[in-house]
Amino acid sequence: MKAEYITVHNTYNDATANNEVSYMIGNDNEVSFHYAVDEYTVVQGIPTNRNAWHCGDGNKGTGNRKSIGVEVCYSKSGGERYKKAEELAIKFIAQLLHKRNWGVNKVKQHYAWSKKNCPHRIRDEGRWNQVINNIQSELNKLKNPVSKPQNKEEPFMLDKAIVINSSADYGAAESASNRLGAPVISRSLASKEKMAKELIVIGGSKDGLKADKFTVLSGKNRFETSNLVGKHIGLL
Ligand SMILES: [Zn+2]
Repeated sequence: MKAEYITVHNTYNDATANNEVSYMIGNDNEVSFHYAVDEYTVVQGIPTNRNAWHCGDGNKGTGNRKSIGVEVCYSKSGGERYKKAEELAIKFIAQLLHKRNWGVNKVKQHYAWSKKNCPHRIRDEGRWNQVINNIQSELNKLKNPVSKPQNKEEPFMLDKAIVINSSADYGAAESASNRLGAPVISRSLASKEKMAKELIVIGGSKDGLKADKFTVLSGKNRFETSNLVGKHIGLL
């Protein structure tokens, strides 16, 4: 797929981004998307060069055929974690736009393709224009990094992010994430593009990952790894 748009969804669910993606992969039905975002994590479900089925506009629809689907988690109940997920999604979408040299006119609601009331929470709360304005200001920051002019050629989204080796390390990663305020991002995403200045690697090696600085917290097994993480974040 050669993407031309980004489509924003609300999951109408209270699952984490990891669970949304596992569900999508495990469930062989016709619904799929490229990214799910919760309060800490951007998880990629499908590469952006492949199309996904998230717009309800059919086999030849521009939404399904030419747009990158971004699901914002926790929209069913909303609240603080939804707000944080939406904020992270806004930053992430700004980065997708920036990389492609696109403007916010490329960002569409699911509603635009098939009149489904999605992203339902943003629509019901009448905040679509606000979301677009927020994406615009994040995009402006990426285009004109005021505080870091020397880094102009390397826009980044995050100071710190956490990468795990397998789902066995997710428990340790979650407490580190809460403690450090750094999202957990998928290993495949962190190898493909530089998402953060510093990567905290929980389990496994830093081979192939992209960042300026690495903190590798990997033991021989998940218990050792979890111990290292505990020490690092000062819980032990
Ligand atoms: Zn949708």
